[in-house]
Amino acid sequence: MGNRTLAILKPDSVRKNHIGDIIKMILQAGFKIKGMKMIKMTKESAKVFYFIHKDRAFYNDLVEYMTSGHCIPMALEKENAVTEFRKLIGATDPTQADEGTVRKLYAKDKAENAVHGSDSDDNAEIEIAHFFSTQELI
Ligand code: GDP
Ligand code: MG
Repeated sequence: MGNRTLAILKPDSVRKNHIGDIIKMILQAGFKIKGMKMIKMTKESAKVFYFIHKDRAFYNDLVEYMTSGHCIPMALEKENAVTEFRKLIGATDPTQADEGTVRKLYAKDKAENAVHGSDSDDNAEIEIAHFFSTQELI
């Protein structure tokens, strides 16, 4: 059971000024922020980040969306971080997400869904390394 996960406040959250409210939810849920930056991902970076979905019909739309504006990757720490963060953000599709979750509150639909959360401890480490050098992490 790992203690780190990679979150991204996606471009729709930045555009709609939801980042303050979402970061507040993250902190109130007991996560520690170990790294954070605001960037505009390149197409190349987004393609690599979502390579696991390369054969899905929505892959190109996903890359377009994730590069449509600035986003905020965050390295987060908490016991059992991956599972705990996915609980906080709720299901991919906001219509399926539990009340009070980030996606229920802020996602438009299953494509523009406000936040990313790693899906396993191994992927969390790969994803943190995608965005952060060691000197950028507490
Ligand atoms: P997650 O782990 O809950 O983020 O969901 P997935 O790993 O299944 O999908 C990755 C991301 O692709 C989602 O968070 C959405 O932004 C996007 N996505 C998922 N399903 C669809 C879809 O049917 N259409 C589009 N356009 N995007 C999707
Ligand atoms: Mg996923």
